[in-house]
Amino acid sequence: MHKHVIRALFALLVASGTLAAQPRTADPVKRGLQLTDFPRVVKLATDVYGYEEIRQPGFTTVSMIVVGKNGVLIADGQGNTAATQTMLDKIRAITPLPVKWYVVGSDHGDHTAGNAVLPKDITYVVHAASRAQLVRDSAAAAATGRAGAAPRVVIVPPVAMSGDEQTIDVGGIGVSVRFLGRAHTGGDLSVYIPRDKILFMSEAYLNRVFPAMRSAFPSEWIATVDRALALDVRRFIPGHGFIEESAASREELVAFRKALVDVIAEVKRLHALGLSADDAIKQASWGPYKDWFIADQQAPVAVRKIYDEIDGKLPPR
Ligand SMILES: [Zn+2]
Repeated sequence: MHKHVIRALFALLVASGTLAAQPRTADPVKRGLQLTDFPRVVKLATDVYGYEEIRQPGFTTVSMIVVGKNGVLIADGQGNTAATQTMLDKIRAITPLPVKWYVVGSDHGDHTAGNAVLPKDITYVVHAASRAQLVRDSAAAAATGRAGAAPRVVIVPPVAMSGDEQTIDVGGIGVSVRFLGRAHTGGDLSVYIPRDKILFMSEAYLNRVFPAMRSAFPSEWIATVDRALALDVRRFIPGHGFIEESAASREELVAFRKALVDVIAEVKRLHALGLSADDAIKQASWGPYKDWFIADQQAPVAVRKIYDEIDGKLPPR
């Protein structure tokens, strides 16, 4: 067959869903998407949506939106006020109901730095560890404010959740916010919707993104993923990387768990050889994970963090 015909046929099969398998990557271009396709709203169930926005260096930052009769719940925001405002505008196109709840799945700036544009009377659900981090970030932002520049505003929720679970009735849809253990930040919250068996995991699940460990608890992160996998869940939603269909979402979470296991094992091997962290960074062999998004940037960070864990330098629970 002529090459063009084959290519056209292939495109047709992909478009028709016959070749449904997406390439397993966080790279939009490799998945055949244009950056102008974003931000985009992905329907997950009736009145439940994922929200994918592209951030630098080119992968998605994911939020979840639950539209109940009592108002709207957001799990995680975006990385600046313009991006979060765009998300609010997209929500406004879905429903006139007010945004009433915000779950801090991750306290990192790429998910919280736009929170200043959220409604002033919004109810935050935040783990104590994440609230404490936001207090520190707020103080740091105030201290580094430059004369003449608009100050960076870090919103600090008034109170932290007590305990490891909080249920919210958004009206017709019950939402259960869970702390499943320390993972990417230490205050990691997941949002579980039993009705639809959906679990939004924020940054505890990075889909085809190299395990980012700047403020992580490496071994505990594996246990946290195991608790997520043990729940009655059909579809797992990541904090970065693409939202997958149900079956692929579990496969990819299992693949991400394996990445955590393999990365930690490789660093333990190098530590046992007596190498310094600097030498371990040079000698590490990451196998397939060297091709995952931001591996170059995050691999050295992971080595240092796992060294800290082995050497007992991480903060106790
Ligand atoms: Zn993060």
